[in-house]
Amino acid sequence: MKGLKGKAAIVTGASSGIGQAIAIRLAEEGCHVAINYRGDLEGAKSTETDAQQAAKANGHEVKTLIVQADVSKEDNIQALMSKTTEAWGGFDILVNNAGIQTEEESHKVSTDAFDKVIGVNLRGAYLCAREAVQQFLKQQKQGSIINVSSVHEIIPRPLYVSYSISKGGMGNMTRTLALEYARSGIRVNAIAPGATETPINSDWVDDPKKEAEVNSHIPMGRPGTPEEMAAATAFLVSDEAAYITGQTLYIDGGLTLYADFREPWSA
Ligand code: NAD
Repeated sequence: MKGLKGKAAIVTGASSGIGQAIAIRLAEEGCHVAINYRGDLEGAKSTETDAQQAAKANGHEVKTLIVQADVSKEDNIQALMSKTTEAWGGFDILVNNAGIQTEEESHKVSTDAFDKVIGVNLRGAYLCAREAVQQFLKQQKQGSIINVSSVHEIIPRPLYVSYSISKGGMGNMTRTLALEYARSGIRVNAIAPGATETPINSDWVDDPKKEAEVNSHIPMGRPGTPEEMAAATAFLVSDEAAYITGQTLYIDGGLTLYADFREPWSA
């Protein structure tokens, strides 16, 4: 895709799932990639190996960097940004992908459990975006941010209230930052995956019966793949999407199309 060769990207939570696929795809497009992980160094190393292979297979030489950081901690985020900046003199792309979820009836969620999800998914994503915008303004060149949101940016999700709040907030954060920095050449967009086959969904991806139940709710009848999320991300950060900002792109096999309306409810 246009405009990605030689760019430098930071991908948070890139040791597994969607973040891993995004890091690999950006390398395949010729980007240098900082692979952030919280605890899974082996996963991050496997991302690095696959990213290097994908870049080579596409005729690119890219630099990769593995950086440990917990995005719920401000000092860790600042260290992630400064390590990348010291190594490469700056960066052009931030992908806010790190995310967690917990299941609990909303009236029973403890304050600590609530803070934990918001701390990673929303506060962490905002702090990463804030630091990235500071760097982009200092560099005086264009920058791009992708927030990995969810269909639960707009679909309410009972038993996952903190997750739903975090992704709803992420949608408005995307639009607010996009508007505020449009004149500075900074684009901010989000991708909103539907049900995707990754470790966060281990309760159903490894169970054919449960997966069939999940598929029955998806108009296209199947889950998404991390690679499909990565393809949309690569497009949005590329120059092909140079005029797109403040948008959430739903990649969900039709999940947000109100499937219950497929057949008429009454004659
Ligand atoms: P995943 O569990 O494989 O990925 C989440 C990643 O975030 C992991 O690598 C994890 O280590 C990392 N992470 C968690 N807390 C962190 C922290 N404090 N600091 C740094 N990294 C941290 O699952 P995934 O499905 O690939 O999730 C990636 C993103 O996609 C999440 O934001 C998730 O909400 C979103 N999403 C996933 C789906 C889906 O169905 N899989 C659907 C919608 C949105």
